[in-house]
Amino acid sequence: MATTIRPRVPTAPDTFDAARAQFDRIADRLHLNAATRDLLRSPSREFHFTIPIRMDDGSTRVFRAVRVQHNDARGPFKGGVRFHPSASIDEVRSLAMAMTWKTAVVDLPLGGAKGAVFCDPRELTEREQERLCRGFVRQMFSGLGPTVDVPAPDVMTSAKHMAWMLDEYEVIAGAKAPGAMTGKPLDVGGSLGRTEATGYGVVLVLDEALMRLGMSIQDMSASVQGFGKVAQHAARRFTTLGGQVAAVSSWNQADARAYTFRREGGLDVAVLAGITDEYGSIDPAKAEGLNYEVLPGTAWMEQPVDILIPAALEHQITEENVGRVHGRVRIVAEGANAPTTLEADRILDERGVIVIPDVLANAGGVTGSYFEQVQGSANAYWRRDRIFHELDERLRAAFRAVHDTADHGEMSLRDAAYLIAVDRVAKSCRARGWV
Ligand code: NAD
Repeated sequence: MATTIRPRVPTAPDTFDAARAQFDRIADRLHLNAATRDLLRSPSREFHFTIPIRMDDGSTRVFRAVRVQHNDARGPFKGGVRFHPSASIDEVRSLAMAMTWKTAVVDLPLGGAKGAVFCDPRELTEREQERLCRGFVRQMFSGLGPTVDVPAPDVMTSAKHMAWMLDEYEVIAGAKAPGAMTGKPLDVGGSLGRTEATGYGVVLVLDEALMRLGMSIQDMSASVQGFGKVAQHAARRFTTLGGQVAAVSSWNQADARAYTFRREGGLDVAVLAGITDEYGSIDPAKAEGLNYEVLPGTAWMEQPVDILIPAALEHQITEENVGRVHGRVRIVAEGANAPTTLEADRILDERGVIVIPDVLANAGGVTGSYFEQVQGSANAYWRRDRIFHELDERLRAAFRAVHDTADHGEMSLRDAAYLIAVDRVAKSCRARGWV
């Protein structure tokens, strides 16, 4: 019997409205004309499709999927594909728009896109997930490609999914096209450093921000939401540089609840990684056995630390819970996309907390993806030290530009990042004669 998996009721119905409101504020500052606003407020193209999958038990299930291509004035559309049961179309639209700003703020020759398959991969076998990835590419083939739109991993997808997607793309194309997907395993043209790039980048821009304040990571403590691809590498890098990670949190599928894990004197990231599954879920029983305190999911934001790194999902620090953020917190580095709502952002700003916005803080991922594409098109591999050197240069330069714009215009880092990005994208649209 065939069943259809539908996206649940949107968890945050106002996400796209919020993304547009943020854009409108910047468009006003830049005095953009009506056509440019119209163009940039909406996705350029959207693909809504179904993927029928033969399950291992012989039944058929039909999954819904979406790919939103926001803008490609500066280069091919670029953005992750997530597997999530409760993703919503509006969330994907706002994430696609954010990708346009993110690639522009780091000055990459790329546009912005995002995709989602409405499913829970934890309920699917490896083979079923592979069929889903291949189905995604079959349905989207005409809208994908190294010079058109390049997917990457995101929430609950990883290198193995990209390998399946690339393979399906190349089978249909009848040619090798390593630049068609990024975040691939090294064995099929992936790049060294890509896995770590996002988390590494979060700590890199944090380091730049602290330097401006005359502070150093060595004297800092942090609390992290999430323990997946971004959070684990951010926590690892933070401790490598001498900082202390006091707490992390993760989602536990078994009882559908989030937990925070804390240990006096700081966490051992490697030990926690050893009791974490491939989706970034830490086993609470095993953590307790290792003498970690297991606290409610929201406790991560209540810790008396200097830095918060939300690196799980969007809209986690809200108007309702921002009051729980401890008075000691000086900086919020947004590892996740849109983890802070606009209202919470305003309240943090009033409290003097510096928020390093997602489009800058987690731009290490797309920068690493760009390096992967460049290596793919040159049919060459870069050494690890070159990759991290280039990542370092690009992200620090982007941070400095954003910081200087913020200082000069007396605005937040978020507004400054958007100002730079929207201006660059608008100029490309104008140069192409679109507006
Ligand atoms: P992931 O699936 O690898 O990890 C997500 C983590 O969040 C897991 O540890 C999960 O347990 C945790 N989580 C989920 N719901 C939670 C909740 N309610 N409370 C606490 N923890 C919860 O995903 P990821 O790739 O690490 O992505 C995380 C965020 O970073 C997303 O917003 C994503 O869009 C963004 N991002 C990812 C990349 C990348 O390269 N992977 C790049 C830029 C931005």
